[in-house]
Amino acid sequence: MGSFSCDLHIHSTLSPCGSLDMSPREIVEQALQVGLNVIAVTDHNMAENSYYVCQAAKKYDLIALCGMELQTIEEIHLLAIFDDFETAFEFQNHIYGLLPDIENDSNYFGDQVVVNTSDEILRCEERLLLNSVQISINDAVKWIKSHGGLAIPSHIDSPTFSILSQLGFVPDDIPFDALEVCRMDKVKDLLPLIMLKHVPFVTFSDAHYPADIGRRRTLLDMNEATCQAIAKALEALGSEV
Ligand SMILES: [Zn+2]
Ligand SMILES: [Zn+2]
Repeated sequence: MGSFSCDLHIHSTLSPCGSLDMSPREIVEQALQVGLNVIAVTDHNMAENSYYVCQAAKKYDLIALCGMELQTIEEIHLLAIFDDFETAFEFQNHIYGLLPDIENDSNYFGDQVVVNTSDEILRCEERLLLNSVQISINDAVKWIKSHGGLAIPSHIDSPTFSILSQLGFVPDDIPFDALEVCRMDKVKDLLPLIMLKHVPFVTFSDAHYPADIGRRRTLLDMNEATCQAIAKALEALGSEV
């Protein structure tokens, strides 16, 4: 059993709001520099760059998981994290079919670019990724859990795009693996709004710039950093709540 330092909420160049400095290579180098053991790149409604982050991480002692930060029909941000790119890509295809076909105004929102491990731009995503996908939070979590992934609502203490800002509470019938907060020290204030029992709180960076990677992180005790092992470690954390 070892302690893994995890930051599972990082944006890359594929997020319009993410810095163009957030190439897969830069993310991996920064993560190593700040002593992270496990990372996940989670761009808005798309997983494509997480493939290149995994490639870039391969030659180092760093585990990169694949995923995205989904925006559901209720305008809730939800982290969907998978072990392998194949499943993340299958989820991306599913989600892309449910994403409104509205063109990105890159001057206003920023560029959405797929970048390989050599910092080369492979393509620009033309469809606006900062939008609500036509899928409910229930159905999204069902898909994620039935494909072996982790489902973690993002920044639930944020005044926008969070499960608390949109629903007002965390229901007890959606099997989230954890709840992400920005302020770990304020978790007590949220407890009356959380119907789901024994669910652990985690904190990740939500980095949009290299310097932010790892600024918030969660330590997990486990043997290996697979989604299954992370789910188990989270369950153990939750039973302490
Ligand atoms: Zn978010
Ligand atoms: Zn985010």
